[in-house]
Amino acid sequence: MTWRYALIIDPVAAGVDAIDYASTFRAVDPSAPALSIGELSTQRGDGIFESIGVVDGHAQEVGPHLERLAHSAALCDLPAPELTQWRQAIDRVAVECQAGECVIKLILSRGVEHGPTPTAWVTAAVAPDNSAARTTGVRVVTLDRGFDSGAPARAPWLLLGAKTLSYAVNMAALREARRRGADDALFVTNDGVVLEGPTSSVILRFGDRFVTPEPGAGILHGTTQMSLFAHLRDLGHDTAYETVPVSMLADADAAWLVSSVRLAAPVSSLDATPLSIDEDFTAALNAYLLRPRE
Ligand code: PLP
Repeated sequence: MTWRYALIIDPVAAGVDAIDYASTFRAVDPSAPALSIGELSTQRGDGIFESIGVVDGHAQEVGPHLERLAHSAALCDLPAPELTQWRQAIDRVAVECQAGECVIKLILSRGVEHGPTPTAWVTAAVAPDNSAARTTGVRVVTLDRGFDSGAPARAPWLLLGAKTLSYAVNMAALREARRRGADDALFVTNDGVVLEGPTSSVILRFGDRFVTPEPGAGILHGTTQMSLFAHLRDLGHDTAYETVPVSMLADADAAWLVSSVRLAAPVSSLDATPLSIDEDFTAALNAYLLRPRE
């Protein structure tokens, strides 16, 4: 990991009226220890995060990422983040990412055990080279997520729509996908409904129609998927949020796993069945995603 910058934030409560939050930021050496031993983010994964793509110094889709940070905070009973403070921290860190692609991470932790306040920090690092995934695509296997499609409504404490720091399950799914000879996974419920990738949303193409699973299905509402849907509608395509049964996957003309840093990765095979890749169309999607987006 090539770090560019790290900033510890003293998080203020939402609504605290300040114009300049610079005094609440403290730059730290990203490769040196900086967190307390009692951090609940490291002890329990008890916190939330966002990963924001940065292209030539421009942090992409900051508004939607901050909205999702606030949504995750609400689901996790964390204090509402003051979004102006976070936006200023992102601006400060993005300055360190002028050339090429980087990733900015926002982290809001429950804080130190028995401590009074949450802790928060923002980092910037060079993004990995994702050009192969964006062109030749990713081989994907479906994996059982271990719950049924009623679980999100029945058990909100599973925090299924929140981007929490508890990603051990997501990382285990990626390792399982690799064990099965694939590059990535697509989670499905145990009653056969398509969800999302462990670190991405899925978009399926049926002719001129683009479909993604409904956000209420127990998945994250992806900022990249939302941005691509707006773009596809501008191009005159139909877009829809639907309940997608696993049986529908076989009828898709194409599919992409989309996320903020890797962008649009075409699916080259699904459960070992080849899927065609429209190279020009995919390149156009990624060109759109690489342009500055608010
Ligand atoms: N779903 C999950 C589980 C993710 O971890 C991510 C991104 O990391 C996404 C979807 C895609 O979200 P975004 O497009 O905002 O990066």
